Amino acid sequence: HNGLTAEAAVEKVQSDTKARMMRLTDPYLRERMHDFDDLANRLLRQLTGFSGRAFDEGFPTDAIILARAMGAAELLDYPRASLRGLVLEDGAVTSHVVIVARAMGIPVVGQAAGVVALAENGDPIIIDGDDGQIHLRPVLDLQKAYEEKVRLRARRQEQFKALRDVEPVTKDGKRISLQMNAGLLVDLPQLAESGADGIGLFRTELQFMIASTMPKLEEQESFYRNVIKQAAGRPVTFRTLDIGGDKVVSYFRAQEEENPALGWRAIRLSLDRPGLLRTQLRALLRAAAGAELKMMLPMVTEVSEIHAVRELMQKEVQHLSKFGHSLPRKLQFGAMLEVPALMWQLDELMAEVDFVSVGSNDLFQFTMAADRGNARVSDRFDNLGKPFLRILRDIARAGERNKTVVTLCGEMAGKPLSAMALLGVGFRSVSMSPTSIGPVKAMLLGLDIDQLSAELNAALDDIRSSESIRTLLVRFAEANNIPV
Ligand code: PEP
Ligand code: MG
Repeated sequence: HNGLTAEAAVEKVQSDTKARMMRLTDPYLRERMHDFDDLANRLLRQLTGFSGRAFDEGFPTDAIILARAMGAAELLDYPRASLRGLVLEDGAVTSHVVIVARAMGIPVVGQAAGVVALAENGDPIIIDGDDGQIHLRPVLDLQKAYEEKVRLRARRQEQFKALRDVEPVTKDGKRISLQMNAGLLVDLPQLAESGADGIGLFRTELQFMIASTMPKLEEQESFYRNVIKQAAGRPVTFRTLDIGGDKVVSYFRAQEEENPALGWRAIRLSLDRPGLLRTQLRALLRAAAGAELKMMLPMVTEVSEIHAVRELMQKEVQHLSKFGHSLPRKLQFGAMLEVPALMWQLDELMAEVDFVSVGSNDLFQFTMAADRGNARVSDRFDNLGKPFLRILRDIARAGERNKTVVTLCGEMAGKPLSAMALLGVGFRSVSMSPTSIGPVKAMLLGLDIDQLSAELNAALDDIRSSESIRTLLVRFAEANNIPV
């Protein structure tokens, strides 16, 4: 109406809105400026004849994305088949975008300060997720060296593939349960491809994180039903909503907190918003009708929280039977061990649940008081050091004493050397990203657990020795030809 072209009108509204929002004092609303920008940019692309998403304008094959930061949902927006890697200026090993990238089999390098400014669109780049290295505009020799490395790696992958149907039994005859972590339907085909025994951790919050509005009961139910169907008889452990902390759900606005990881998250939030939890429980119960339902609770701090959820569960079961719905054939109820306070309630906890799953990402950050999302402190302490391994050993021993199955589903389960340490301190069940199943299986096929346990336990009990346990583990693997 005022004579501007449509594009110019959008740009004007965009800059006027921006100017107004910059003046806001509420940081939450100020942050929403990015959403407006995103919207305006999409609109502009539509008006200028390009489609709404950056990559639809032609996402190159073999693309590597360089970004300051990225959310897990955003990553899923890109065409998986052409994406070869992700470089982030921020981003620590256990942050969620990295976990999702790993599940997609995409190498990530984080903590690459200033890389976005240094690189130009179209620059050749080598990224090495194993060593956390990136080479921008690499010289020919380096390219050749990496081509050789890639060839070797591919050969190793083929060897891992050949192990798919080999039973995970150690050299001294112990059957280990190797499970995979998942959270989206795209992960499911990897269950058969990797040969995992089941899904040891299904992060239900990912469905919530990628949705723009709260998924309704029916949507949740059909999603879970689909997961169970695609798992084709292999057990799936659903974890109830673990939002809060670094897992942000855009439509769920919580109060700003000084320490979100220690704040109102996971089961705490679920218990304070029973409507949310009951909807999820109902969806899970209905989806698993006639089958076995395995579910577990994140961030449990006191055993009483488990009682509270059980009560809600009971109400849901009664409600469903009253209305003639069929119920799961069997219900297995578990807790995640992520909060150190549970270490002094192990027997009560294990008397209360059917299984326990150690969330070592969180348990480590809380034990060492080192933020898992902050690479500066998260790499400072060794998760194969004495304190953490002694904790893990205590948990495994409590599991044995109480005849409770204990699994570990944090990132350390997927690293062959750490997985070896876990078996050494008594774990017999681990859950990891699907790409780690092969390397971990290759490790355990060559391992004599009793022999390792004897050495490892002696070292953990030796209060005078200052030798690093990691060094001991590496030496043990080398001496026994165990691929780690
Ligand atoms: C963990 O904390 O180790 C875990 C498996 O859960 P998440 O990484 O989703 O917090
Ligand atoms: Mg956790």
